[in-house]
Amino acid sequence: MKIILIRYGELTLKGKNRKEFERILFNNIQKQLKGLEIFKFRKDRSRIYLEITGDENLIEITKRLKIIPGIHSFSVANQCENDLETIKREALSAFDVSNPNFKIVTKRIYKDYPMLSNDVSRAVGGHVLFNNDGLPGLKVNIHNPNQLISIEIHSDCAYVFSQFQLGMGGLPIGTAGKGVVLLSGGIDSPIAAIMAMKRGVKITCIHFSSPPYTNQQSLDKVKSLIEILHHFDKDIKLYNINFSDLQLGIHQNCIDKYEITILRRMMIKKAAELANRIKTNVLITGESLGQVASQTMNGMYVSNSATDKLILRPLITMDKSEIIDFAKKYKTYEISTLPYEDCCVVFLPKNPSTNPKLEDVEKEEEKLDANLLNDCKYEVYKYDNLFESQLEDLL
Ligand code: ATP
Ligand code: MG
Repeated sequence: MKIILIRYGELTLKGKNRKEFERILFNNIQKQLKGLEIFKFRKDRSRIYLEITGDENLIEITKRLKIIPGIHSFSVANQCENDLETIKREALSAFDVSNPNFKIVTKRIYKDYPMLSNDVSRAVGGHVLFNNDGLPGLKVNIHNPNQLISIEIHSDCAYVFSQFQLGMGGLPIGTAGKGVVLLSGGIDSPIAAIMAMKRGVKITCIHFSSPPYTNQQSLDKVKSLIEILHHFDKDIKLYNINFSDLQLGIHQNCIDKYEITILRRMMIKKAAELANRIKTNVLITGESLGQVASQTMNGMYVSNSATDKLILRPLITMDKSEIIDFAKKYKTYEISTLPYEDCCVVFLPKNPSTNPKLEDVEKEEEKLDANLLNDCKYEVYKYDNLFESQLEDLL
């Protein structure tokens, strides 16, 4: 029988909260693997085990495990009887002849096993050598093997596996609280969203569009990004806020050079309202220091002052090229680079201020009718089971 051993790394450091973390990770894995045939889920002190009946869903299962925050690594193992002869047989069948420079490592969880770990490794290694006699390059290499075969001995069975697959790392979604992600159709904010989820934040996305100045394609693009984010968190929601009237109001009433700054502040105020509604004090943006005119220190200070919420900026120190590498890795890049209009470029002023003064900006904002912000219409999209069958290879 095949069994997947799932390790959760950093979680083990979390002391008192550990039980709760494990519970959330366990639930997240169950949700993520819904629809795939799994024989049994089980957990013990430090790991989660998935017993699977056959190989047919294995590729899909491993693909999904790789995008579950909180999983550090996992191995697909063969479960067998724990007597030496059976272990030898399993190790031999796990041995990859194309990498004959190998090492066997044994761990005894069951300390009363009649042999010591090293003796098991030696006996199994000898068996592999004997049965591959004459294979070019065949060698036990303790310090730098090309192939590692691991044996784990439990009281009632043994696991034999030859691969460690890296998971996403981070913390299980939902263990670090909630946050509202300001999601444009650009390259940065979807990556900020993924980074936040990776550190355990349960996100809700908010997007601002200004139809008819922004078109349907630009909204479709954001929905496609949500499809990708949905692979990480099945409960994800998108709020699309109509900013047309407000944006026109800003354009008609406020001085050009502050238009973008004021628009940003309005986005943050609206996002803060949503944050109140879902009971969180955290907003998340895709800003990176100095990337564009509005992302200067002072520009961000002024937009920050629109709220008393905590604003997290996971990409703040990253270069664009680093962000693009992540966008390619997580398959958001092709969507983000489709041509589209963000509402920020509608009525774009020629010379946006890179050094706005808070008092001046606030004075400009007084010229706006307060109802413009209150009255913005919105629609909500929830992606339930729509994408189950379309999971792309995300890694
Ligand atoms: P991105 O690639 O994410 O669009 P950007 O480099 O284009 O970022 P800006 O347009 O200055 O940067 O936006 C900064 C941040 O403000 C974005 O990362 C995003 O969090 C938020 N933002 C910008 N436009 C919108 C929008 N239309 N709806 C929601 N959030 C937005
Ligand atoms: Mg943008």
